[in-house]
Amino acid sequence: MLRIAIQAKGRLNEKTMALLADAGISASVGSRSLIAHAKGFPVDLLLLRDDDIPQAVAMGTADIGIVGLNEVEEKGVEVERVLDLGFGGCRLSLAVPREADYKDLGWFDGKRIATSYPEILSRFLKANSINAKIHTITGSVEIAPAVGMADAIFDIVSSGGTLIQNGLVEVKSVLDSQAVLIASPGLSAEKREELDKLCFRFRSIIESRGMKYVLMNIPKQSLDEALKVLPGMKSPTILHLADPDWLSLHAVIPESQLWERIERLKAIGAEDILVLVLENIVK
Ligand code: ATP
Ligand code: MG
Repeated sequence: MLRIAIQAKGRLNEKTMALLADAGISASVGSRSLIAHAKGFPVDLLLLRDDDIPQAVAMGTADIGIVGLNEVEEKGVEVERVLDLGFGGCRLSLAVPREADYKDLGWFDGKRIATSYPEILSRFLKANSINAKIHTITGSVEIAPAVGMADAIFDIVSSGGTLIQNGLVEVKSVLDSQAVLIASPGLSAEKREELDKLCFRFRSIIESRGMKYVLMNIPKQSLDEALKVLPGMKSPTILHLADPDWLSLHAVIPESQLWERIERLKAIGAEDILVLVLENIVK
């Protein structure tokens, strides 16, 4: 049986549980228990703080884990990065006070930088030949400059709102992060097989996210035009209607292009447009 380490509570927990649920894996997680048995797949959940997940997977305490790439990189442990999961997006960036007269990375020479990610930062500084002092703190890094503990920070940024609130400006993004599925280096053949099955489910869920299934009726003479507008998995599906002047078209469209395409289809006579949520794309 596979053991998967996930964040017990925090920003990744909810989306991790949702991904597992979409993959047919349900678990009732008590607020105090460290291990939960799941239904729907032979897997146990190990509920940890995110900081401990890379190490747990590297040591084989857990076979696989779901955690932010930022934590994996910081811990520098040897794990296999199996799959990017498409949630928990953020970046690790250097930020300086708004009033600083910042021109380039040379500004950081001789400065004190507060961070919870000293390893990633020190690698970056070394690679760029910058001599700065790293000040490791575990919480509220963003207030360090205001209270005089540091000249700049290196921290997680997503919307950038926290930086603005604290009078800071992002000057250099160092690492793009998201939740990733990691695996222990020495998995047995049996466990590797289970992992492949799990990955297959995860991939089909991730691929279907952000895609819509669209059905519409279209006048027969608009078909060529409509086919130029519509993508589809291989190509759109064309079905006949009882009315010989009309056809029904079905296609899979990325959410980001949905409205623009629908407007173009309406302009060439499409009617009765239905947009459906896609649950899985199994390839
Ligand atoms: P734990 O108690 O498990 O140690 P934590 O407080 O260290 O939790 P969270 O704040 O729950 O961590 O964040 C978990 C992960 O979510 C981060 O490591 C990062 O990969 C991701 N993340 C995405 N957006 C953000 C954000 N705006 N701020 C912080 N983390 C974010
Ligand atoms: Mg943590």
